[in-house]
Amino acid sequence: MARSQSRLTAEIDFERDGKQHGFIRLPYSVHRSAYGWIPIPVVCIKNGDGPRVLLMAGNHGDEYEGQVALGKLIRALKPAEMRGRVIILPSANFPAAMAGMRTSPLDEGNLNRSFPGDAYGGPTAQIAYYIEKELLPLCDYAFDFHSGGSSLTYIPSTLMRRPQTPAEVEAGADLMRTFGAPFGYMADGGWGEHTLTAAAARAGVTHMGTEIAGGGQVTPAALRILEAGIRRVLHKVGALTGEPPPAAAETRIMQVRGADYYVYASDPGLFEPLVELGDTVETGTPAGLIHPHDTPWREPATAGFARAGTVICKRVPGRVERGDCLFHLAADFEA
Ligand code: CA
Repeated sequence: MARSQSRLTAEIDFERDGKQHGFIRLPYSVHRSAYGWIPIPVVCIKNGDGPRVLLMAGNHGDEYEGQVALGKLIRALKPAEMRGRVIILPSANFPAAMAGMRTSPLDEGNLNRSFPGDAYGGPTAQIAYYIEKELLPLCDYAFDFHSGGSSLTYIPSTLMRRPQTPAEVEAGADLMRTFGAPFGYMADGGWGEHTLTAAAARAGVTHMGTEIAGGGQVTPAALRILEAGIRRVLHKVGALTGEPPPAAAETRIMQVRGADYYVYASDPGLFEPLVELGDTVETGTPAGLIHPHDTPWREPATAGFARAGTVICKRVPGRVERGDCLFHLAADFEA
């Protein structure tokens, strides 16, 4: 791999044992600060040799559960209970996190559509470049804690890119069962080569993500699943010693394969959902009505499911535009 040309620098030394915190400095020269930098919080906890893990949240700034859980983990973890190294990036797209937005207010950048990034691009592209070229090569595992954010909410789930071989499928399912969310799904890479998932695959790093509720809030139930799952997974890969939290509910292993798993609004209007999270649906089951509140004497449009499955994700805000995602399904995993 070509040498990294990243302009970002970490204040902490990822090779040093112990617990360090500081900032990754993203140079940002603007009117109010000619030689300034954006401070992206980073923590490194290292205890000798062992597994090398990246824990990340705030990839989307309005997905709060992971940011809260990683802050709590940062304050709790002690080097003596670790083996190897965890690098924790709790608000990866820091400008987006501080704005409580999915995308960066500085450049509209969606970090999880920005990999492999650009050393001389906007702030979001520079963050993606730094993660792919500098952080992922330091890691064996990358765990990225998403949720549905402001516009969607999920049944708490883990996800990963659909593996190629039966042995990899079993290893992936095993990791998902260890995490212990109600659902774990293997996805066919629908968002292309610009996600952290794709970046991890390029770097040869084992990746798992979450979609852990959302709706622009943090709930005790979602946080319990996330915090215990993170600790169980760290224990499983050998990074955390001692006793992991007791196993949670059984994880149902699912798949999400293509566009027919998603339902979109065909018209602008007000969204009346006709199903709930966890419902089982068939091809043609009505998913929701879109009411034309600008012309309320017209009949609403009906959005339907294009295939059978279980509803794991739904839109939260009632107002929709044509093209907004209303639901997505998962189906039981089939080899
Ligand atoms: Ca997300």
